Amino acid sequence: MQTSNSTPANDRRSQGKVIVLTGPSGVGKGTLVQILLQRHRELYLSVSATTRSPRPGEIDGKHYYFVSRSDFEAMIVSNHLLEWTEFAGNYYGTPRLPIEQKIAEGKIVLLEIELEGANQIRTSLPDALRIFILPPSFSVLEKRLRDRAQDSPSAIHRRLQRAQIEIDAAKEFDIQITNDDLETALHLLEAALFN
Ligand code: 5GP
Repeated sequence: MQTSNSTPANDRRSQGKVIVLTGPSGVGKGTLVQILLQRHRELYLSVSATTRSPRPGEIDGKHYYFVSRSDFEAMIVSNHLLEWTEFAGNYYGTPRLPIEQKIAEGKIVLLEIELEGANQIRTSLPDALRIFILPPSFSVLEKRLRDRAQDSPSAIHRRLQRAQIEIDAAKEFDIQITNDDLETALHLLEAALFN
């Protein structure tokens, strides 16, 4: 018979947690996350919905759910999103159901989202650990955004304006990690995730 203090091991494991990763566009969050996912099977990366057009190589359902503005607005109204925002002219949001399912499965759920979404998560999921990824400097960020040549000059301009606002808010996060040397940043992230 089970006593009140003999919680089975898989019950103790059964509650996962949520980690929010925020940082300016071009800071290298995507690279960090992809390496973490390869290294650690217990991680699950949330797939966001967005109204932005797919970039070359991006796959619907894998990188994002690419949806129309009216479909996105329907998701807002029906409360299907855990958080959402408008960023550089497009909607972005986190579908609620998969997150709840993965937490129940005991996974560590990663949300790679921008500042406003991270602030909404602070209210809706106060236990989530919020990590901010900083560039080594603003000029390095600017160079990375221009070199990756994924966005139009006007989109890059909007992203850089937004980057400054995000960097100014970094101190409000639980942890700040500078992505200068990739392996050092990964090591610091792993320490935060698995402590
Ligand atoms: P990108 O267009 O470069 O893929 O993403 C632009 C910004 O939107 C990035 O800072 C990214 O982290 C953020 N983002 C992606 N998905 C979501 C989401 O579901 N919610 C919020 N709030 N931001 C997101």
